[in-house]
Amino acid sequence: MKRRIIAELTRNCIARLKPYSSARDEFKGEASVFLDANESPYNAPYNRYPDPYQIKLKTAISKIKGVDTNQIFVGNGSDEPIDLLIRAFCEPGIDNIITIKPTYGMYQVAASINNVELREIQLNETFGIDHSKLLSASDKNSKLIFLCSPNNPTGNILDRDELIKTIEGFDGIVVIDEAYIDFAPQRSFITELAKYSNLVVLQTLSKAGAMAGLRIGMAFASEEIIAILSKIKYPYNINMLTQEKALQLLENNPTKQWIETTISEREKMKNEMAELRCIEHTYQSDANFLLAKTTDASKLYNYLSDKGIVVRNRSAVEGCYNCIRFTVGTPDENKKLMEEMRNFDKNAQA
Ligand SMILES: *Cc1c(COP(=O)(O)O)cnc(C)c1O
Repeated sequence: MKRRIIAELTRNCIARLKPYSSARDEFKGEASVFLDANESPYNAPYNRYPDPYQIKLKTAISKIKGVDTNQIFVGNGSDEPIDLLIRAFCEPGIDNIITIKPTYGMYQVAASINNVELREIQLNETFGIDHSKLLSASDKNSKLIFLCSPNNPTGNILDRDELIKTIEGFDGIVVIDEAYIDFAPQRSFITELAKYSNLVVLQTLSKAGAMAGLRIGMAFASEEIIAILSKIKYPYNINMLTQEKALQLLENNPTKQWIETTISEREKMKNEMAELRCIEHTYQSDANFLLAKTTDASKLYNYLSDKGIVVRNRSAVEGCYNCIRFTVGTPDENKKLMEEMRNFDKNAQA
């Protein structure tokens, strides 16, 4: 197959775009008096615009992930690269995107906002993908395939071989959203970036990184794709406080310990849920949550919420009838959840 190159996949208006050039872009030397950006001279350091290229943060991420800084895009959450990928490559009203069902809701939202058709391929019984189904849904206007692995809300990692066949067989860009990869035993697709120029890997500091409040999402891809995303982002998309705090936390965070505890708690909860009558089945998870088929999702949901425990009712999602998604909390929180579920069982019996 002769694959279209990135330049051919890019929307014409984006390819032609001359990006906004900030005052700091135009001056490259060393200076001590900054009178170029109409900033206030007072209230340092907040008077200054933040680094639009996030060099320090990208250098830290580069060391942790083993990826060159020019293959890293940092966004205001993963939602930013999701939206920018659609805006860069999909002509509204003409191009389309392919994804799986059920999956993360933001692909649908971002596609709709951009007036781009979303084609959803239902996962199989075990929530797996079939590359031939994904590829046969594509045509010449299919620019992106979004695959979430481990998938939300199902929790399972997608089969590596199926993902590879999708990347190799698709004449467009495959985006693998690895928001939960740190909780999975499998390795990231970041290692495949050198091999596939049409691959984008999304990660985030919101889950295992425990920094959801700071809003840091990351896209890893070829230098060419990253350059396009960087060209169309808001110039100062990551504020100064977020850049500083994220850098500091990346240097000090005990995430390894948190991840290990979360995984062992997840497996403990899965075993305990198997004893409950209100749970019909708990799906295998490679993430920091468990999806469980319950006997009556809204009844259990309401019971737990009356006890002050909020979980996610996914019953309305196709393929997830009566399912609830439980995020793994601290050991204490999980204990409280399990106790209340046991009480629910007792009350239901009475
Ligand atoms: C939580 C989540 C994200 C993270 O989004 P942020 O905007 O980075 O907080 C991305 N993708 C999926 C599938 C998620 O569940």
